[in-house]
Amino acid sequence: MAWTERQRKMLAEIGIRLWVPTPVPLPAAAGPGADGIAAPVREAIAPLPQQHGASQPAGRAPLPSAAAAAPLALDPARVIDVDTLDADALAARAAVCTACALCTGRSHAVFASGNLQADWMVVGDAPDADDDAAGAPFAGRGGQLLDNMLAALRLSRGPATRTRHVYVAPAVKCRPPAGRVPEPSEVERCRPYLARQVGLVQPRLIIAMGRVAAQSLVGSAEPAARLRGRVHRFEGVPVIVTYSPAHLLRHPQDKAAAWDDLCLALEVVGTADPASIEAT
Ligand code: SF4
Repeated sequence: MAWTERQRKMLAEIGIRLWVPTPVPLPAAAGPGADGIAAPVREAIAPLPQQHGASQPAGRAPLPSAAAAAPLALDPARVIDVDTLDADALAARAAVCTACALCTGRSHAVFASGNLQADWMVVGDAPDADDDAAGAPFAGRGGQLLDNMLAALRLSRGPATRTRHVYVAPAVKCRPPAGRVPEPSEVERCRPYLARQVGLVQPRLIIAMGRVAAQSLVGSAEPAARLRGRVHRFEGVPVIVTYSPAHLLRHPQDKAAAWDDLCLALEVVGTADPASIEAT
């Protein structure tokens, strides 16, 4: 595999050691068919069914910045009906949402970063303290790791011109107190926002980074380790589950597995060999 110098540097930054001469592993019983494409990948790249609530965004607006929210009173009876909102209105609605208890402890509702025209969408768990302060997802050390991983694939959530764009959003928009994991009811309550974001972006692929992201998109409470290595679907869009950047910072031995997941994602969107990506 002919890795470019740039890709070697990027992979070194995220802890991937290229001296391991193994090809991109695919799930068990996922050997290539006569066309050379692994079965789960062939399934994933088949024409997608119509996405729920998805309309082709004409003249997509630039991403809104999350607005600071004043202290709010919890209103769990509030109905979240966002199926017709555009991106700006959706972010504004989340900023004042009081539909679950997480609204009472947030500084900002963390909505998204990246580009609405992206083919790739990354969904994280819930905002941490850095994200809550910045009003943007993956704002801290985990975000730096994520950016390095994306850069190794020539993907960017920034204003890149020669790299492909990524849209990044948390599954749950408000920071849980004391770093606790969101309750399943909170994940469920917040899902309409995420579903509408998927409908607006219409990505070709979603990477679910972490257990809460997978719980929202795949509907399983199993840990990411048990859901990774295969292709799931959310409203017709292929979903690859992998570890969260926060997990990878705590458990760097899992970075190689995360890289395998990204390589599977590349195959799903049609780039079979990450080394074939032209470096800038
Ligand atoms: S976490 Fe989601 S559902 Fe709960 S208050 Fe925030 S935006 Fe609303």
